[in-house]
Amino acid sequence: MGELEGSAPPSAAQPVFDLDAIVHDNEQWRATFDVGALQVQPTKQAVILTCMDSRYPAMSIVGFKLGEAHMIRNAGGRATDDAIRSLIISAHALGTRACIVIHHTDCGLFGQTNDNLRSRVKSATGQSAAHIDFLPFADLEESVRDDVEQIRACRFLPEGYEVVGMIYDVRTGLVIPVDTPHHDA
Ligand SMILES: [Zn+2]
Repeated sequence: MGELEGSAPPSAAQPVFDLDAIVHDNEQWRATFDVGALQVQPTKQAVILTCMDSRYPAMSIVGFKLGEAHMIRNAGGRATDDAIRSLIISAHALGTRACIVIHHTDCGLFGQTNDNLRSRVKSATGQSAAHIDFLPFADLEESVRDDVEQIRACRFLPEGYEVVGMIYDVRTGLVIPVDTPHHDA
């Protein structure tokens, strides 16, 4: 995969997807496919909660390979109710016992406000999104700390569940741990 070599966006008049091309791309994926025997339980018993950003593969930036960790991705990598739902299932049904929260530089949610995002939705669709909290943030370390705390506070995760926080720099590839106050549940 070439850095900064992503294809140009299609024009607005064209559909995004070409199903024949997708089927063809899948043939290429299958040409070297050798992971059909992996087990469903992640072997490193870990979960990564991170942003949906298209510029980094969540696993490999922290050294995980296919089959080793669960990936939960959403806008910002925030500890939403649905992210926590996934963590609970991951822990109790599939044996994970630790989560890394990774937020990143140049995030699309950084510096946004709910008002701004709601007015974009309103002007594009005419619909009110006043009830949606888009969870924007203005301080990257603080957002990591908040989400680490949110997960640590979850009473449905197992005893001894480990949660750490990190920041990923999309320009350099560097991952920096974020100090989070530890306290026992
Ligand atoms: Zn992001």
